[in-house]
Order: sequence, then structure tokens, then C-alpha cells
Amino acid sequence: MTEQHPIVIVGTGLAGYSLAREIRKQDKDARIVMVTADDGVSYSKPMLSTGLTKGKDAEGLAQAGTETMAEQLNLELRTFTTVTGIDTEGHRLLLGDDSLSYSKLVLAWGADVIRLTIPGDGQERVFPINDLGDYRVFRKALKPGSRVAIMGAGLIGCEFANDLRNGGYEVEVIAPSDAVMPSLLPAVAADAVQQEMEALGVNFHLETLVERIEPAETGVTLFLANGEKLQADIVISAVGLRPRIQLARAAGIDTGRGIKVNRLLETSAQDVYALGDCAEVDGHVLLYVLPLMACARALAKTLTGVPTEVTYGTMPVMVKTPCCPAAVCPPPSDAEGYWETEQDGSHVKTLFKNADGEVLGFAVTGRFALEKQALSKIVPPIHS
Ligand code: FAD
Repeated sequence: MTEQHPIVIVGTGLAGYSLAREIRKQDKDARIVMVTADDGVSYSKPMLSTGLTKGKDAEGLAQAGTETMAEQLNLELRTFTTVTGIDTEGHRLLLGDDSLSYSKLVLAWGADVIRLTIPGDGQERVFPINDLGDYRVFRKALKPGSRVAIMGAGLIGCEFANDLRNGGYEVEVIAPSDAVMPSLLPAVAADAVQQEMEALGVNFHLETLVERIEPAETGVTLFLANGEKLQADIVISAVGLRPRIQLARAAGIDTGRGIKVNRLLETSAQDVYALGDCAEVDGHVLLYVLPLMACARALAKTLTGVPTEVTYGTMPVMVKTPCCPAAVCPPPSDAEGYWETEQDGSHVKTLFKNADGEVLGFAVTGRFALEKQALSKIVPPIHS
């Protein structure tokens, strides 16, 4: 009965658009409606942290407008349309006062930025950056000579720090960890990246936190837990993301850290699927592009009549810190073994080996980063 209704995809990020593209490879005519809370402009989110280095502002990073996307993908695109609920029984998406019936529904609505509640009156100078709209606002606020403080030394914080230095800005990075990218890089590789970033002029304040942000004569003052005070014109908050699960949970769909789906990308509700940053696929929340592309390829087949489970190859993460490029393929969290390291200054190649000498993971920095492809071939996929 519901088959005359369209496939509805919520979200026009990389997950939503990749899925639409993959569906079109399988079926030129299937009726598809895409719904997004934003302007639906197509862009590559990873490029946001390379804008200054590449000399591109938000408009320069936009790849295609909605008319082009709707025409290319032969679908209906509803922009500035926020989903407010899901009636899973009735196969209806709730859009405020309006609603939209679906035959199949795909949730590709991403993740929310974690917002710290930091005391003080300087909050209006704090900018999270998780989409092109955020980036547009941030770039408007960034003036020649701006001093920028970044809260968070993860992948995104480090990439923005490098990019801002390349753009000639003063950059301070504050984080509670004792190393950069602690959940991604082994210590020896993290140290190498940090060293090169410091040589580039990034100032790190690790093992401490921002306790208060107050307006100053110009910009804001950040009061750190270690007693330091920093002056900045702009504060970037890069302290992590949380998959968007609230609306799914309210609709009775199983959620964990993300919206729980199996390898077919099926949620616990009939005809409702999820992929991308909002999804927890077979127990894993993977906030990266390669996993969502694999999911898009598999789900497109499922939605067009050939049920297909997602499988992943080896998925190295590239760290876009041009002062010290890095690539990493972390070993499984429960793997037993040891890191074997070859190092020449900040050029590091470290391999995680098990007792049989099998390579289960790696991290490479500097000139060794060139070996990432070759190493990816010998590392077994983790989530296969
Ligand atoms: P999003 O792009 O966030 O899209 C979500 C969509 O859902 C949006 O269109 C939004 O408007 C819509 N939406 C949300 N809620 C609603 C609602 N209620 N109703 C309607 N629409 C809604 N990954 C890598 O693999 N390599 C990298 O080098 C890398 N670099 C990165 C650099 C930065 C600065 C950032 C922020 C991320 C980076 N990532 C990287 C991560 C990667 O970009 C993301 O995993 C990926 O883009 C997520 O895509 P998505 O489509 O799931 O979510």
C-alpha cells in the first residue's frame, strides 16, 4: 500500500547525497524526496578545515546548489524543512504542521556539536563548526589579525589550528588531554604532529580546560583551569559530536550512541533506515566519510530490491595537517600486541603488530604518510 509513496531521505550532507547518487546508479526512476533543515547546498565537509590553506571561503567550498542537485539526481528537494517527528506506524514524516508519507525512510541527519556550558559572558565569540552554514558565520567573524583560541585538540581542532596558522592567524589550542588526537593517534605519532604544529606557531595548552570566557576590551579572555589567561577574538569549539538520536528515540526506534541499525542499515522500525554520522552500524559509530560511502552503496542496493549488507574495507583516516600530514588505521580496541616504530624526527612510521608479527594497525606522519596506501593493503579491515 505504501509503495506509491517516495523513498524519503532526511539530510543533504555527504550521507544523504551519496545515497541518492548510489540509488540513481541502480534505478533511474525511483521516486525520491530529500528533506533538509538547511539550504541543501552540496559541499564536502572535510574541506571546511582546509579553506584558508586553499584560499576558499564558504561560497568557494560550495560545490552545487539545490537546483543543480535536484536536476542531476532527478529528485524533489525540500530545503529549510525541519523534521519534527516520525510516525513509524503510519509511514509518515512529521514536518511541523505538515507531513510527508514515505515508502522507505532514510535518516541521514548527522550529529550535533557538543556544546560545553562554560560560565562567563563571552559566549557570543564561541563558534562551533560542523557544517557549511557554521563555517560561513565563522569566516564572517574572522577578521585580519584575529586571535583564535580552539577548544579541543582532536582531529578537527588540530586541522583548524593548522589551517588558521596557514592563513596567518594567531592560534591557541586548549585541551584536557596530554597529547593531540589522543583517541586517534598513538603517542609517538601525536608528538610528531604536535611538534610540527608548534614549529608552525600553534600554541598548545594541554592537560587543562577553559573554565570561563569573559568579554575583554577587544575580544574575550579565556580563564584556564591551570591559572593561565588567554586573549582571543574568536573561540572555536571543537570538543566532539553526538549523533542525532532524539527524534528517532521519541518515535520508538532503538538507539544507543547512535540510531541503531544492522548491516542492512535497518533500524528497529519497519522501512526506516539510517546511515552517516547519526547511525550506529552493528555497534559502531564511525564519524568518517569512508564508512558512510560504503553504507550508501549497500543501502542503495537494498532500497532498490537487492538486500545488501554493508562491508567495510580498511579505512585509514587522513589527518589534514599539512605541516605534518598523518594517516592512521587504529588497531581494534581489544587487540593485543605492540607498536614497532621507525622514526626520523617528526617522520614516524609505527606499526601495531600481534604476537605473530601480523600488522593490525598503523600510524604514519611526515614523509612516511606517503606509505598509507601500501600499508592499508596489509592491514585487515576492523569492522569487516
Ligand atoms: P551532515 O553532513 O551533518 O548532514 C546532516 C544533514 O541532516 C544536514 O543536511 C542537516 O541539515 C540535516 N538535518 C539534521 N537534522 C534535521 C532535521 N531534524 N530535519 C531535517 N534535516 C535535518 N571525515 C573523514 O573521513 N575525513 C576527514 O578528513 C574529515 N574531516 C572533517 C573535517 C571537519 C571540519 C568536520 C566537521 C568533519 C570531518 N570529517 C571527516 C567527518 C565527515 O565530514 C562526516 O562524517 C560527514 O560529513 C557526515 O555526513 P552526514 O551526511 O552524516 O552528516
